[in-house]
Amino acid sequence: DQNKFQAIISHCKEYGFVFPSSEIYDGLSAVYDYGQYGAELKKNIKDYWWKSMTQLHENIVGLDAAIFMHPTIWKASGHVDNFSDPMIDNKDSNKRYRVDHLLEAFAETLPEAEGNALLAKMDELLKENDFAGLKTLIEDNKIKCTVSGTCNWTEVRQFNLMFSTQLGSVTDEANEIYLRPETAQGIFVNFLNVQKTGRMKVPFGIAQIGKAFRNEIVARQFIFRMREFEQMEMQFFVRPGTQKEWYEKWKEERMQWHLSLGTDPAKYRFKDHAKLAHYADAAVDIEFEFPFGFKELEGIHSRTDFDLKQHQEYSRKKIQYFDTEINQNYVPYVIETSIGLDRMFLQVICNAYEEQDLSTPEKEDSRVLLKLPAKLAPIKLAIFPLTKKDGLPELARELMTSCMPFFHCFYEEKDAIGKRYRRQDAIGTPFCVTIDHQTKEDGTVTIRHRDSMEQERVPLTEVRNIVMNKIM
Ligand code: ATP
Repeated sequence: DQNKFQAIISHCKEYGFVFPSSEIYDGLSAVYDYGQYGAELKKNIKDYWWKSMTQLHENIVGLDAAIFMHPTIWKASGHVDNFSDPMIDNKDSNKRYRVDHLLEAFAETLPEAEGNALLAKMDELLKENDFAGLKTLIEDNKIKCTVSGTCNWTEVRQFNLMFSTQLGSVTDEANEIYLRPETAQGIFVNFLNVQKTGRMKVPFGIAQIGKAFRNEIVARQFIFRMREFEQMEMQFFVRPGTQKEWYEKWKEERMQWHLSLGTDPAKYRFKDHAKLAHYADAAVDIEFEFPFGFKELEGIHSRTDFDLKQHQEYSRKKIQYFDTEINQNYVPYVIETSIGLDRMFLQVICNAYEEQDLSTPEKEDSRVLLKLPAKLAPIKLAIFPLTKKDGLPELARELMTSCMPFFHCFYEEKDAIGKRYRRQDAIGTPFCVTIDHQTKEDGTVTIRHRDSMEQERVPLTEVRNIVMNKIM
């Protein structure tokens, strides 16, 4: 499905969803900009998540913490010491690879049993931080070796993924700060602020959406792996001993959230982590079948009391909660749900993209369509006067004025109606309305449904409600 994926990337650019960053300067690797429709779609995904977390849960509140944080936070969280990937450089091609990605890609070319054996070996070596062993594994399998069979690799090294910069004007190590590689820590260090001022009772959650930065070694697959991206994270604080139950509950609830967008359940699956991070006692990914295979879309992690305890130790401030129900002080346990907003955007686009052959014996025809959930579509309603005269534009403008405060509309009077419909199909607009001469006589319009292409006559005055009912 690489062809389909390439077509999706081109479509995103051609229709103003996603542009390579700094394109007129030949781009910046693994950094992207969202265009006029992309920005709308992204915002709608964000709002859908935010509403489902905060508005629909009495015990979850939002937070918007700064990207810059005290550098000791990243020592406490383990990111300074552990947030790194082993990498290796190929001296022949001057290319840098993440060791696990290199071996995974190679394993896919092998018969299944052999591939699995290779990956098992890799996991073992990664767990033991056996870098020499990893290099040997790459060489022994002749991965990316030249025709003559020689392999020219550097040693395997750890590469920390955090970006750093200088706070203030003095260049000195003490002023080195990081761009946050995850939004979670902003939540942990504000635990007491939110708990106290919001009078929150455990179990409760804090949700946050914001930018995160990772200097990914191999950044490929479009917006799947970016160096600057956005995360939607929720940390749910629970009584110690109840984490297993809450972990199961959030696993289920997050899957339901995905399915609520109408995606075929067969395109989703859970994948348990084989190797747990230093802070976790259980972890699972929700994977989606992208055109390049099943890949992680969201992670659900049972993070224990690791983060709060670490911050307690490093900040020397007591971070505890008094549970009045059991008359006990404790450091809460945490269940985290963490999803990449950009990766969710890619999921939505990949799932919506369809090329349809509409040919009849008389005529060849086709269309490209984004079957976006109406809730997420950048434009909800396109309004077309059939012609530019006879008072039709005026009627169409009146409808625009009455709908614009409620949802995003688009007005167009140029080109044949069929062409105008196709342009809206390509950006996923669920409804188009055409105002024609009959409208002047009986006050009805033609409403056209994107997926079925069915058209029906409805009273002009009903249009707003029809659209509202679909997007609420
Ligand atoms: P991966 O194994 O793909 O590097 P991860 O396990 O490190 O991802 P987490 O740290 O669990 O990812 O981050 C939570 C979520 O953030 C991921 O499920 C993904 O949706 C998103 N995410 C992580 N890294 C990136 C990135 N470089 N670009 C876009 N989204 C990302």
